[in-house]
Amino acid sequence: MRYAILGTGAAGRTLAAKLASLGHEVAVGTRDPRATLARAGDDSLGNPPFGRWLAERPQVSLLAFADASEFGDTVVNATAGNVSLHALEAAGRDRLAGKIVIDVANPLDFSQGMPPVLSPVNTDSLGERIQRAFPESKVVKTLNTMNARIMVEPSRVPGAHNVFVSGDDDGAKKGVTQLLVSFGWPEESVIDLGDITSARGAEMVLPIWLRLWGALGHTDFNFHVQGSRTRA
Ligand code: NAP
Repeated sequence: MRYAILGTGAAGRTLAAKLASLGHEVAVGTRDPRATLARAGDDSLGNPPFGRWLAERPQVSLLAFADASEFGDTVVNATAGNVSLHALEAAGRDRLAGKIVIDVANPLDFSQGMPPVLSPVNTDSLGERIQRAFPESKVVKTLNTMNARIMVEPSRVPGAHNVFVSGDDDGAKKGVTQLLVSFGWPEESVIDLGDITSARGAEMVLPIWLRLWGALGHTDFNFHVQGSRTRA
């Protein structure tokens, strides 16, 4: 399969590396490939410059958002949540049409300081906004509720724990579930929350996730829903 990962941060890099290691063809999308490759020094989160990361992964290419989305059969949105709609507009409505768009982003608003607040929240979500803006794409919200390392290596957290999927297209959610299984998630750990409006719930996990990070002092944790295998 060909994947476009829109986003050069920790989430995009981690997902791109995992997909490439599984034998998929992977292009990472960015605003301006030359500018991204010219960056020197670690970013504000301590990630090494993208060019150094890419040089160690010759099987991954770096393209502008539009070219990456043209390349990918499936597109992953791993851009900062407050700009994801801009990034996806740059990717291009036509190039995203008919494709699964896996949305791992969180609509965090840092404009009022720390901790960030969610915007939108409660009555709307980023996942829904993306689905409304790109009605010909099949948006599946998933993996946003954990650190990127756990997304692709769930065994980092001992015991049973869960990952959520939200989306309007059942076939797309099944396909994404199989992808999650290929990442190491047991199929029974994947909870289908329902249509894309359920992305509100998945995104509203973030305030407690951020507080847990502060309380525990690390990010190698995840949520386990006891009773999740029980059907009404
Ligand atoms: P990030 O710093 O949140 O986002 C980096 C990406 O956003 C870059 O590709 C950057 O483009 C793009 N971007 C920034 N400003 C932009 C603008 N004005 N227009 C278009 N694109 C813009 O990176 P991250 O930490 O990897 O997180 C990515 C997303 O995944 C976020 O929504 C985050 O909440 C979510 N997430 C992250 C983790 C994690 O462990 N990091 C875990 C769960 C969910 P350039 O490449 O051009 O710089």
